[in-house]
Amino acid sequence: MRNNMRYRMLKVNSDPDVTGFERSSESVSHSLSLRYAFQQCRIAASMSRLNTLVLSLILLLSSLSGCIGDLDESQNSDSDSGDNSNNDPNDRSDNDSANSTDNQSEENLVGREIECPDGSTTVVVWGEETCAIPEVFAASDVSQDTVNLTLKWYGVGSTAWGNLGPIEIYIIGENISAAEELEDEYCERHKALDDNWKEEWDCANENYRIFTDYVEGGGAAVSAFMKSYLDYDFTMLIMSAKFPGPEEEDYKPVMLHEYFHVFQHAHIQDKCSGDSRDNCIRDEKMGGKNKPWFSEGGAEYMAQSLYAQQPGVRDNYLREVMEMKLNYSLEGYTSQDIRLDNLTYDSNVNVYDVGAWFIAFLIHNEGESTYREGFYGDLDELGFDASFEKNFNATRTTYIEDFELFLEQPREEVMAIIPEQLPVNDS
Ligand SMILES: [Zn+2]
Repeated sequence: MRNNMRYRMLKVNSDPDVTGFERSSESVSHSLSLRYAFQQCRIAASMSRLNTLVLSLILLLSSLSGCIGDLDESQNSDSDSGDNSNNDPNDRSDNDSANSTDNQSEENLVGREIECPDGSTTVVVWGEETCAIPEVFAASDVSQDTVNLTLKWYGVGSTAWGNLGPIEIYIIGENISAAEELEDEYCERHKALDDNWKEEWDCANENYRIFTDYVEGGGAAVSAFMKSYLDYDFTMLIMSAKFPGPEEEDYKPVMLHEYFHVFQHAHIQDKCSGDSRDNCIRDEKMGGKNKPWFSEGGAEYMAQSLYAQQPGVRDNYLREVMEMKLNYSLEGYTSQDIRLDNLTYDSNVNVYDVGAWFIAFLIHNEGESTYREGFYGDLDELGFDASFEKNFNATRTTYIEDFELFLEQPREEVMAIIPEQLPVNDS
């Protein structure tokens, strides 16, 4: 846990909008502005470095056994709390959304018809479980071991929460030129996949650094490219070489944290415009624009809880982590008067940590399935507040008030809701 202070500093310094993704971070900077895009396995296999990656994935995901049926119909979801999906510096306020709406009616299937590992075929649909394996693009200085590690933990997350697509995973190393090459590859790939992808706006430039910032700044991110001006929807998940690096234990829960953002985004079907001045309902369904409490709290708690259940992880892991989060956030939160759901990425309070405690409190009271399946299952149809009230039988205001009362208890009472030992999940 020695790295926490480093991460903490990174968080303070991170700018949610620097890259046009949501860049927040615990140990992580997140990007959000994704668009999901799943592509044919065969196309994937033809792309650079993908043959071995695809094979690795087939092995890793074999437990998913072929095409999994439809996810729970609750498809929708944006990710990371600060989904800045409409905050891009390369704002496309002049986008031709009418045009893309027409195209949507034809449902462009390019890259969406895929062959599953078991030989069957399917179409990748936003928010539905799929047999599709994620496409992985690693900078040239990233080792195969790092790719394998990333895919292993992708597999843990997708086994637990559903294999949701379309997803593209980008792994950034320590070499700036290699990151620039990856930006070029990303640009060319999406120009080929989407006629509405405009190099001027959607590819990296001096104001829109897609991967290169990660060389220095490290971190991780998820962005939902679910945008009205694009035809090819996909989620981008970025991992990097530091804060945390692949040699650190935190790399694993951070990968799970990012994958839970993929889960969240997959449960929201709305598209954002390219104009950051427009309201985007995806933000509301994530818990509010630049309001990370629910999305970051959920990603963080779910990631740490799932990690704690993995073989080889020390018994007391989750309590250690949650106690540390309490130490880092409790006094800061209770000594100020900004309510949990109004904290931002820039607040002095560590919203990831206190948010994780809120979700722990929520799951302790309601059960994980009510949170993960109930709330997220109703989210897209009902919206955030109505789904919250339906599933948790209280308004968010009431629930946050209860949470604040809960935090006033003695430390042992607060810690008592975190299980000492979770059942090991070695599936
Ligand atoms: Zn996050």
